Amino acid sequence: MIPRMPLGQKGSTTLATADLVRSFRAAFAGTVITPEDERYDAARAVWNGTVDARPALIAQCRSTDDILAAVNLARTAGWPLSVRAGGHSVAGFSVCDDGVVIDLSLMRGVTVNADTSTATVEPGATWADFDKATAAYSLASTGGLISTTGVAGLTLGGGIGWLQRKYGLSCDNLISAEVVTAAGEVVQASGTENPELLWGLRGGGGNFGVVTKFVFALHPVSTVLGGLMLFPLDRGKTVLKAFRDWAADLPDEASMLAAILTAPSEAFVPPELAGQKVVAILGCWCGDLDAGTAAFEPLRQLAPSADVFGPMPYTALQGMLDAGAQYGLRNYFRGGYLADLDDEVIDVALEHGARMPSPMSQIHFHQMGGAVGRVAPDATAFSGRAAGYTYNLVSTWTEPDEDASHIAANRELAAALAPLSAGGSYVNFLSDAGGDRVQAAYGGALYDRLARLKREYDPANLFSRNQNIRPAR
Ligand SMILES: Cc1cc2nc3c(=O)[nH]c(=O)nc-3n(C[C@H](O)[C@H](O)[C@H](O)COP(=O)(O)OP(=O)(O)OC[C@H]3O[C@@H](n4cnc5c(N)ncnc54)[C@H](O)[C@@H]3O)c2cc1C
Repeated sequence: MIPRMPLGQKGSTTLATADLVRSFRAAFAGTVITPEDERYDAARAVWNGTVDARPALIAQCRSTDDILAAVNLARTAGWPLSVRAGGHSVAGFSVCDDGVVIDLSLMRGVTVNADTSTATVEPGATWADFDKATAAYSLASTGGLISTTGVAGLTLGGGIGWLQRKYGLSCDNLISAEVVTAAGEVVQASGTENPELLWGLRGGGGNFGVVTKFVFALHPVSTVLGGLMLFPLDRGKTVLKAFRDWAADLPDEASMLAAILTAPSEAFVPPELAGQKVVAILGCWCGDLDAGTAAFEPLRQLAPSADVFGPMPYTALQGMLDAGAQYGLRNYFRGGYLADLDDEVIDVALEHGARMPSPMSQIHFHQMGGAVGRVAPDATAFSGRAAGYTYNLVSTWTEPDEDASHIAANRELAAALAPLSAGGSYVNFLSDAGGDRVQAAYGGALYDRLARLKREYDPANLFSRNQNIRPAR
């Protein structure tokens, strides 16, 4: 057995581990960054500023062979291992202390096949990379609401986005994948090859290996109706109830998001609203634009204080919220599913929303249903098929000495919403790890099936820096 030793500590590396690292470096074509490297701090920084992990070695890969070499190094040496694509894991899973980070950020190619309407995507691509490549063919697939998020982590957890009610979640559009397993094998996952592995990759997170290639289905998408409307918080109850009743009858073309947030100081915001807590209704209509304008008319009848809904390229909508998701701020998320935006949910959200302790914190209610709800609950590993809404409680602040108070405020709201929730939660919106949270997020039957798949592909739990599925016994 080779002892587990931090590579970063001078003099602590055994002969055996030194040999392992030497042969790893010889085979590795990418960039290796260790603590003494001047690039180390930049390379270990991730989106959530509360994460401050100090890996022993960051392996910036350039190929599947590089990824394979890094997996083999971590397994053979017995070191912790984490996988980083877009670096947006709020829980900080993409980096680890004293171990190997498989950093995929140099592998961002996206190749579109317009004849088959598919995109082949390297594992470090962001949604901006993806959308840019596919938009050239007036094609798209469901991606996240912030374009800097990684395709990999978002898809493997599920993938909520502006096209979901029309075209399904990101994971529903994942046709096939190539995976480096814990044993150091390269396997394919598709409807015909290892179909159970593909099932697990559609919502089960990074538990089964490193995905080195994703193939997605694409759909015709170019100009959409997108944007947002703002309403003063004191009108919140009326607006959110009217929104809920209106949204219930929307066709699949519309995917909506209701939020409580602080209005920015922007030209489109009336001065009396800037800096104030507001209800925001955001959305996307992907379909006939006149029909969309007519469908949104009841929202306009609610007389928003600001209204910037209009036709825009899909890629513009995909980047519209990026400025609100800066790298390096301190963040904590909790989430869950709701059957609907019931009156009690609205009351709780408005009461807590009014006293959110940071102007950067937000409460999000993502409208589900449509194509998402028509996928059978056991067809993928995503747990929220029956939900009317997925909520995400986003706490964001700047000062480290305020961590405890912002996290406490978030947990207080989460506790108030829990009894009103439908059970289960979306793993990509969870800051906390460990305990029985993951089992609760998936629910018994999904979790048990994932645990059996984990036993097959990663019995020693090498891939444990994630919302972790424990291998079935
Ligand atoms: C600003 C922001 C906006 C967001 N918006 C949305 C949204 O609109 N919709 C939504 O559904 N979610 C959203 N999320 C949540 C997001 O889906 C998760 O944080 C997701 O994990 C991010 O993926 P990433 O690749 O950027 O993250 P990373 O931190 O790089 O990866 C997260 C984890 O995914 C796994 N992983 C990554 N790459 C691979 C791979 N190639 N093979 C195997 N496992 C891998 C690993 O376990 C890794 O630790 C958002 C998060 C943030 C911070």
